[in-house]
Amino acid sequence: MRPVLELRGVARRYGSIRAVNGVTLTLGAGRITCLLGPSGCGKSTLLRLIAGLEPADDGEIHLGGRVLSAPAVHVKAEARDIGLVFQDYALFPHLTVRENVAFGLQSLAPPERTARVEAELARVRLDHRATAHPRSLSGGERQRVALARALAREPSVLLLDEPFSGLDGPLKADVRDAALAALRAAGSTVLIVTHDAEEAMLMADDLALMHRGAIVQTGSPRDCYLKPVSLLAAGLLGDLNALPARVAGGMAVTAFGAVAADHDGDVVMARPEALMLVDEGAPALVVESRFAGDHMALILEAGGVRARARAPLDQAPAVNQTVQVALDPDGCRLFSPESPSSSPA
Ligand code: ADP
Repeated sequence: MRPVLELRGVARRYGSIRAVNGVTLTLGAGRITCLLGPSGCGKSTLLRLIAGLEPADDGEIHLGGRVLSAPAVHVKAEARDIGLVFQDYALFPHLTVRENVAFGLQSLAPPERTARVEAELARVRLDHRATAHPRSLSGGERQRVALARALAREPSVLLLDEPFSGLDGPLKADVRDAALAALRAAGSTVLIVTHDAEEAMLMADDLALMHRGAIVQTGSPRDCYLKPVSLLAAGLLGDLNALPARVAGGMAVTAFGAVAADHDGDVVMARPEALMLVDEGAPALVVESRFAGDHMALILEAGGVRARARAPLDQAPAVNQTVQVALDPDGCRLFSPESPSSSPA
């Protein structure tokens, strides 16, 4: 991975609030990085620091070989070569789609400017709406105009702040697919901020998990989901069960089955889908069994512990039935209280 943007120990305080608290992060060339974390964890603040909309209190930001931010250095936003798509898209209402995309390209010669604008409109499939005004566009179309306007400037890095949060269900998936295709076609280096775990995993080449101003894990979506470094990191990406465990003879034993253990620990993190219904395993009582679209959502109880599990629609056990359960090691991790950033189960 060739680094384009590098953050080292970046920090920003508001009074006593440490909104961004020593963030070190690298964006690879042509890669899509998603910054995922709950509301209030500091994502937007970090984006503003990268964009140069406000100064960092500490740390350094490098773009290519250039220092954008360091103690006593603050390159202004307009001189950073970084594009930012705001959550509300910030389109100019009095300008047409074409004029919105052309905005900011005044330094180009007219023929080149026209070619660039038309190419970007085609890329986001909006050529047929070029003369429309933003108010007559759907939410998804507006989002594509904002994207085209940002891409037209060919920034070294493009930042997207919650780009799909203003869109609803089915439309959202379509807009997301279209945006992803446009970003990939442009080969851009992108940082997307989101609080939606599924969206982050779907879009990211690289994922960065943020909590209380700090990055708690980086990696591929698969590694972050299946190999979380802590219960906290695991919880940021999806549902989990924290099963009390006892380590003996190289196994971490829980009420729902055992997984191999190469270190000490007292809790096994198990994704709901890692609790497998099997012919012979640990007996568990079905407390709840609810239809959840493409699967049945179960609550099981064993040894006084409750856990969420899943079953295929055609194998739904009934409430009060006893089932046999085993743990899929791929969806489990053993953690110990002393070393929360623990290794594999
Ligand atoms: P997120 O984008 O993850 O929701 P933010 O970056 O918006 O989080 O906010 C991080 C923390 O910093 C929050 O506690 C928020 O209230 C605080 N904060 C953000 N901007 C300001 C500001 N301009 N002044 C004071 N506090 C702020």
